Amino acid sequence: MLNYSVPLNALKNKTILVTGAGDGIGKAAALSYAKHGATVILLGRTVKKLEAVYDEIVGLGYPEPAIVPLDLQGATQKHYQDMATTIINQFGKLDGLLHNASILGHLEPFKQITEEMFLKVMQVNLTSQMLMTQALLDALSLAPHASVIFTTSTVGSQGRAFWGTYSISKFATEGMMQVLADEYQNSTLRFNCLNPGGTRTTMRAKAFPAEDPNTLKTPEQIMPLYLYLMANDSCHENGKTFHAQPKS
Ligand code: NDP
Repeated sequence: MLNYSVPLNALKNKTILVTGAGDGIGKAAALSYAKHGATVILLGRTVKKLEAVYDEIVGLGYPEPAIVPLDLQGATQKHYQDMATTIINQFGKLDGLLHNASILGHLEPFKQITEEMFLKVMQVNLTSQMLMTQALLDALSLAPHASVIFTTSTVGSQGRAFWGTYSISKFATEGMMQVLADEYQNSTLRFNCLNPGGTRTTMRAKAFPAEDPNTLKTPEQIMPLYLYLMANDSCHENGKTFHAQPKS
């Protein structure tokens, strides 16, 4: 799958929303989608980072993106509904949604998980995705072939000691994707999960502080799968979990 390549105009005339677009994998995805012709909506909590990505996209001559500063921790249903209305008014439709933003929380024994941290992680990694997807379904239905990608992890299908809250949030993400894929199987919408695998980012460094980052793929190197799942070539894919770095 990493050898997959799409033509440079594969995402032309598409509008794609990327959450957590200011850093890590989300930033690489936003740049990659813009490079392939998409108008990207950059959503994230740190405006400076979003502005830097905006400047890079414009500087490279790609379609001008839009910025949506939003902290998924505090965002409510109304925020997502207002955003959906703005997207329909401004772009007429939404062709793609990459749920990328998430937080690790604490890696700790199950017994030590606090309610506060559990709810915090669930809010960002799960509830926000549910509310955002729900609010954007109409905008997605206005596109001829809309793709929604949820980001999972290896611990989203195989539990691992001390990864409790994050792991549970990713299992639930995969469940939400499957529910949506089944519910919309006879529609123009498709829903899939993408597991990036170990990738050189801040989150990975936090989870594995002793690891040499140079042994990991960069976000740019795993973009072929991100592109494939947004491009029309993947229109027939629905309800699946894809791995950017499958174990050989
Ligand atoms: P990073 O921590 O590098 O980036 C996460 C992005 O999400 C940042 O832009 C961050 O914003 C944003 N974000 C976090 N919390 C919020 C919030 N409350 N509101 C809005 N935006 C927020 O993570 P990665 O790039 O490594 O991870 C991307 C995805 O890939 C995640 O879903 C992760 O679980 C998954 N993943 C990553 C792996 C890896 O090895 N890197 C492996 C498996 C899965 P800000 O910059 O402002 O903090």
